[in-house]
Amino acid sequence: MTFEYAPAPESRSIVDIKAKYGHFIDGKFVPGKKHFATINPATEEVLSQISLGGQSDVDKAVLAAQKAYTKSWSKLSGKERGKYLYRIARILQERAREFAVLETLDNGKPIRETRDIDIPLVAAHFFYHAGWADKLDYAGLGKSPQPHGVAGQIIPWNFPLLMLAWKVAPALATGNTVVLKPAETTSLTALLFAEVCQQAELPDGVVNIVTGDGSTGAAIVNHPGIHKIAFTGSTDVGKRIARAIAGTSKKATLELGGKGANIVFDDAPLDETVEGIVNGIFFNQGHVCCAGSRLILQEGIADELIEKLKVRMAKIRVGDPLDKNTDLGAINSKEQLLKIQELAIAGDAEGAQRWSPACTLSAKGFWFAPTIFTGVTQAHRIAREEIFGPVLSVLTFRTPQEAIEKANNTPFGLSAGVWSEKGSRILWATQQLRAGVVWANTFNKFDPTSPFGGYKESGWGREGGKHGLAAYLKEGK
Ligand code: NDP
Repeated sequence: MTFEYAPAPESRSIVDIKAKYGHFIDGKFVPGKKHFATINPATEEVLSQISLGGQSDVDKAVLAAQKAYTKSWSKLSGKERGKYLYRIARILQERAREFAVLETLDNGKPIRETRDIDIPLVAAHFFYHAGWADKLDYAGLGKSPQPHGVAGQIIPWNFPLLMLAWKVAPALATGNTVVLKPAETTSLTALLFAEVCQQAELPDGVVNIVTGDGSTGAAIVNHPGIHKIAFTGSTDVGKRIARAIAGTSKKATLELGGKGANIVFDDAPLDETVEGIVNGIFFNQGHVCCAGSRLILQEGIADELIEKLKVRMAKIRVGDPLDKNTDLGAINSKEQLLKIQELAIAGDAEGAQRWSPACTLSAKGFWFAPTIFTGVTQAHRIAREEIFGPVLSVLTFRTPQEAIEKANNTPFGLSAGVWSEKGSRILWATQQLRAGVVWANTFNKFDPTSPFGGYKESGWGREGGKHGLAAYLKEGK
């Protein structure tokens, strides 16, 4: 007997999307001059018009942030700053459903994830950093570590509000003020967050949000009034930022791309491992920098595990992101869909075998079925390049050493996973893997107390945990 799920759509009546948005500068919404549309990637419905920030908008935002830094924020005690962060965290919890629905509409990710993962983690980041605000003397950075001043923060579209929280919460807790630019396709939750700043009566200018495109981001990076840059996005733009600030005194953290290896040894519990693999690559449509996008299987269990994985993948529900039963939502943009399609075609052309379960994809919006490629070799583009979509490349190995060599044979070094019953094997493997985060018998687990970041082309610095505070502070005495 099979069960069909009845539609269970979350109501969108809780969100109030304005026809047009300005920038949030010095505590107020100010109208922009030029605008661009933001759409729902599941339906292509235009949701709103977003302002395209230019140099003069960035200048005003930086000026407001500088003024707020010298006049109010740097004068407050850590305890007082902490109160604002706690207040923001509580408002985020109160308005969680509104944020979850808005994020799903603008990004295309399932409501199940925005409701249960993104927004609770956003609040957790503010609570965690609120706790640090009056304890910075104990962060291991000497007595009275000092903020840098104005932080320029540029975030991507895959976890819009969560990336904002990763950047704004530590900046504010450490006494910096902020000029933030959300991604072009997902500005709405950042603009709703601006309302939360007003509601929390955060002093004007402490958080400024300038919406726009890559040129707006570049204007923030190059602005002489910015002291620290925090960027999450592609390795390509990360390198451009590194070149732009070379020779200046600007500090930077860069969270860039990844091609995470998920290694399965032949003693791993296979059913549990299948769940971890699915979570590793199909969570958030695979739009995850630390996704387990390369599955590296020990030969003896490869066939059995791939069969189990296919059975499980056939149960992934693809469709309306607002439906509470949906597992895999829409691809965030047409541009990203084209990139995924191009790399999948390259996989076919280079000789890997593609498989997807039967699923009906809507003609409207941007969709890509969950996909695995078997018979992948190290030389294939789908083994080397970040696809950033629901596509898994499967490789095999015979000896543990070969698994490690394959896992580390990448220009990236952000994440990895190890599946084995033996603790000693896990400890051995984690010590050999050149990745900032290594999960053992699980994948894609996030917590504000845990530092996150990469090696090699995956970036510089760490965000989260005690290590993440260091990026926002000058060492004290
Ligand atoms: P980008 O790196 O272009 O975008 C990230 C952020 O940087 C966005 O806010 C973007 O603005 C901004 N930006 C773009 N150009 C500049 C610039 N010259 N100076 C400063 N800021 C800039 O990523 P994309 O959105 O184009 O995605 C491309 C690929 O990057 C994906 O396919 C994926 O592989 C990877 N990626 C990785 C992420 C990660 O978490 N590591 C996150 C997102 C993407 P705007 O949105 O307006 O272009």
